[in-house]
Amino acid sequence: MADKSIKTLPLFIGGEFEPSASSKKTEVYDPTTNEILSYVPYATSQEMDKAIEIAKEAFNEWREVPVPERARLFFKYQQALKDQQEEIAKILAEENGKNFEDAKGDVWRGIEVVEQACHAPALMMGETVENVSRNIDTHSILQPLGVCVGITPFNFPAMIPLWMFPLAIVCGNTFILKPSEQDPHTPNKLAEIFQNCGFPKGLLSVIHGGADTANYLLEHPDIKAISFVGSAQAAVSVYRKGTSALKRVQAFAGAKNHTVIMPDADKDQVIKNLTGASCGAAGQRCMAISVGVFAGSSSDWIPEIKESLSKLRPSSWKDEKADFGPLISKSSKQRVLSLIEQGQKEGASLLLDGSQFESKQYPNGNFIGPTLFDHVKADMSIYKEEIFGPVLLCVRVENLKSAIEFINKNPYGNGTSIFTSSGAVARKFQHEVEVGQVGVNLPIPVPLPFFSFTGWKKSFLGDLHAYGKQAIRFYTETKTIISRWPEKDQNQSLNMTIKMK
Ligand code: NAD
Repeated sequence: MADKSIKTLPLFIGGEFEPSASSKKTEVYDPTTNEILSYVPYATSQEMDKAIEIAKEAFNEWREVPVPERARLFFKYQQALKDQQEEIAKILAEENGKNFEDAKGDVWRGIEVVEQACHAPALMMGETVENVSRNIDTHSILQPLGVCVGITPFNFPAMIPLWMFPLAIVCGNTFILKPSEQDPHTPNKLAEIFQNCGFPKGLLSVIHGGADTANYLLEHPDIKAISFVGSAQAAVSVYRKGTSALKRVQAFAGAKNHTVIMPDADKDQVIKNLTGASCGAAGQRCMAISVGVFAGSSSDWIPEIKESLSKLRPSSWKDEKADFGPLISKSSKQRVLSLIEQGQKEGASLLLDGSQFESKQYPNGNFIGPTLFDHVKADMSIYKEEIFGPVLLCVRVENLKSAIEFINKNPYGNGTSIFTSSGAVARKFQHEVEVGQVGVNLPIPVPLPFFSFTGWKKSFLGDLHAYGKQAIRFYTETKTIISRWPEKDQNQSLNMTIKMK
């Protein structure tokens, strides 16, 4: 039974927040305490139809608004997000649990994408070739698609929605966002700030719900394109359903990211970076480093990595000294605990066990302490599954060649990195590794939005124009116009002399 004193989040449709008529809702928890923050409704099909209808109507006018005018509104949005970064980060940290610096970073990385939307007039330029044949010129222009949908995960509730709707909308589209049901307050806040910047109503709607809600939207005949970010299983389902409904789809999926440690690397740098990249945000990052691949004698450093990890202390986002926060839900915590148990059963050496961690101040939070496994093999469950918890796995290999072979056999290809002082080693690694983002002497290689961000293999499905500047291509159609020009001017205007009075 729902507690009537706890509010139910509204939907955001056509520029207004409105209560959902749905009888189905679920709790949104504070993962630090497991107290209920609010309920999130699962929008009804009538509410989704209404949002789509409004978005279709708004599209007809919005697409005619000059591109610089559209971009100018995003300058206002960028400033408003900057002004309210801390306020958004507080809402985000409370419902997501990540520490406050990470929460501010989540908002900031989104703001950087909004900055790309401000560049739309330059990014939306087409191409021209004069004289493709005698007196024939060809030029291409980019035009918006219509109503687009975004389905986003819990782990970056500000950044990932901001990867999508600003670029879609600046291209002239309208957008329906279906954010994670686990931290829906942040996207509502982003929508509120958006509307307060003076955008016409109906450009953005936020529809709450779960997988069924997402499926309704992605199969709807009036939806033209779908951007998805989430787990591997859901990505496959979204990609299959969306493409079989003949829609444009891009799906960022799960990951298993490796860092190679060469014996010639800077040891202190390796220890510091592996510690942060594996356990930061409680390991709930698609670019978290979850596997250290130790080549040759670099495995001698594992005891010092253990010592460094053991100093990390998870706590509330309100605690400035917290190294990371809780997992998003009780069920996520349970899943990670059972993987840790499975890892031991399957023969990996558990060097540091975070499963027994208890927070005195927040005994009900979903905390797991830093965890380290050594002697991990490719057929173990802890290696095959994305753990999404503060767990680092150590794999020992002979040399660079075997490290690259090991990584390339993994079905995922989101991010990877190498620590070495040799330029030749780094060059060989970046050339041969089959992964989308590669770091050299840095652990989490997330590009800024004027580059692309695209996982390889099972980490990404569909259209690769996925992020930042590149996404302009995903959210537009290219129209190519070929024109033949008359060689002679029937009206003789080429030779005309204009008589001035
Ligand atoms: P999730 O797949 O459970 O949920 C993501 C979104 O999809 C939510 O909005 C959810 O309601 C919806 N959803 C869930 N199942 C669905 C289905 N079968 N059909 C349609 N929609 C569905 O993911 P999560 O737990 O919220 O996020 C964590 C996952 O996201 C991790 O696997 C992580 O690696 C991945 N992720 C990937 C990237 C990337 O860039 N590749 C970035 C962030 C997160």
